[in-house]
Amino acid sequence: MAAAAIGDVPASRVIGRGLSGHWPSVRNMSETISEAAATAEPTGPEPAEPDRPHGPSLSPSRATDFMSCPLLYRFRVLDKLPEPPSPVAARGTLVHAVLERLFDEPQGCRTPQAARDLVPGQWERLLADEPELAGMFAEDSERDAWFDEAREMLDRYFTLEDPNRLEPTHREMSVEAVLESGLMLRGYIDRLDVARTGELRIVDYKTGTAPREEYEARALFQMKFYALALWRARGIIPKMLQLIYLGNGELVRYVPDEADLVATERKINALWRAIDRAHTTGDWRPHPSRLCDWCSHQALCPAFGGSPPALPSTVQAAAPQPATAQPATAEPAAAEDACVPVDAPPIPAQVPPAALRAPAVPA
Ligand code: SF4
Repeated sequence: MAAAAIGDVPASRVIGRGLSGHWPSVRNMSETISEAAATAEPTGPEPAEPDRPHGPSLSPSRATDFMSCPLLYRFRVLDKLPEPPSPVAARGTLVHAVLERLFDEPQGCRTPQAARDLVPGQWERLLADEPELAGMFAEDSERDAWFDEAREMLDRYFTLEDPNRLEPTHREMSVEAVLESGLMLRGYIDRLDVARTGELRIVDYKTGTAPREEYEARALFQMKFYALALWRARGIIPKMLQLIYLGNGELVRYVPDEADLVATERKINALWRAIDRAHTTGDWRPHPSRLCDWCSHQALCPAFGGSPPALPSTVQAAAPQPATAQPATAEPAAAEDACVPVDAPPIPAQVPPAALRAPAVPA
């Protein structure tokens, strides 16, 4: 079977030029992003890695936290306040783990049933890493219903892609790049597909539903963040950014260009200066929004009548130490020889046209 390029989708259905500009200014960015957060998946804390000898670093999740609510950023990054396990967030971790592990199966064996069968084992693995997750369910029946929700999402995945026609080059790939400003971008990309022609496609799984088009800036910010990091690290602008929404079975594709990523770099540097300024001034003000519904720290938030704790003594006013991203991990591939591989190109599968739509231009 002939190889196709990553960009081989009908041009009219690919999100193209003209949709990439007009980022909101830093001053009004938090408003724009926090509106978007109302329809997006809540982010969770990222375990901090040991101190490293390099300079400041930023992950997309923590950047989004600051844009949504500076106080939430402070609680997570500086105070490192614990957050109770969330069934929604844990379900996302489980689905991501299954999709990562699914590609250990040979082509032809990556079936909906195979994905469903991976759920209990991946759950056990998550439990081994985070035993406190067991406390989310009072009864086994609750956990089983939660499994069913995860399996529904996995079934939906197969309506959007045929994983037997893909051979991801990387899964849960760590990416790091240092900008000219000295800021290090860090994160984990769910999947990186590299076509035989060398084109890159960044794929991110979302277990929530796709936001309305006017609120897609938040998700696209994360994808452009990764695209910028890859560009700076490898010198190649990714051909496509692809978001797979498993909550409602929708797929969003975006084609970035150089101007897009230059604007993203400018935005991230401005954001970092704003974070640095907050460190200097101590002004980590709350920014109430619908995101508060998911926030674990309402009791400490002035917007809800609470008082933040004193900053940890280890926090230096002018030396921010943002947390960094943490990858999901998966079991090693299990030997599997009962399936017949298919002759398929290592490129994206056909996508139902109805599932494609263009993101809105950020305000
Ligand atoms: S409750 Fe809302 S305003 Fe307060 S810290 Fe959490 S997200 Fe921010």
